[in-house]
Amino acid sequence: MVYVKGAGRDEKGFYIILDETPFYPQGGGQPYDTGTIDDIAVEAVRWSEDTIRHYVSVDPSLLVDKSVCCKIDEARRHQNSRCHTAGHLLGHIVEAFYPELKAVKGHHYPDGSYVEFSGSIPVDLDRINQELMRVIGLDCAVHSWAESTKKFVQIGSYNAWPCGGTHVKSLLELGQVVATKQKHSCNLVRINYNLLL
Ligand SMILES: [Zn+2]
Repeated sequence: MVYVKGAGRDEKGFYIILDETPFYPQGGGQPYDTGTIDDIAVEAVRWSEDTIRHYVSVDPSLLVDKSVCCKIDEARRHQNSRCHTAGHLLGHIVEAFYPELKAVKGHHYPDGSYVEFSGSIPVDLDRINQELMRVIGLDCAVHSWAESTKKFVQIGSYNAWPCGGTHVKSLLELGQVVATKQKHSCNLVRINYNLLL
């Protein structure tokens, strides 16, 4: 059980602050979790300075100092974890094929996922897609861990990567991942990708 430390209202609506939260707040290129706190729908979860605000549509002030039951929308979380992990894998594969390109930004949203790389050389999307399919077929484990306040993720034998997002446990959970297009601008290469399943 967790308990409600505070409640309030800002320009985005009513919010709840928990002593500790199982909800993932939007950040690191990954969307927030939704779910419920007791039976109140959590519509968005966002950082506000160093606290996490869980936005709800009703005034939650009666819950302050009470224990509550939190439930996350697991299907949404899993989809976000798949999308996010696929972005890491795409980054590793592109960097392995094209050492001049370095992944600098990920946007792991279902409606338009991409990874941005510093550099300007064109990439062979067919080759990348074949490698995505091959590596996912190996079903490598995905390890996530924390060292003091920093979190890391490692896919198979690729280098560990600092990341506080959520990830799948094995690559087969990704299904088929397809790099769909590349865009070049200002010494950046943006590669869009989709999850087909
Ligand atoms: Zn990550």
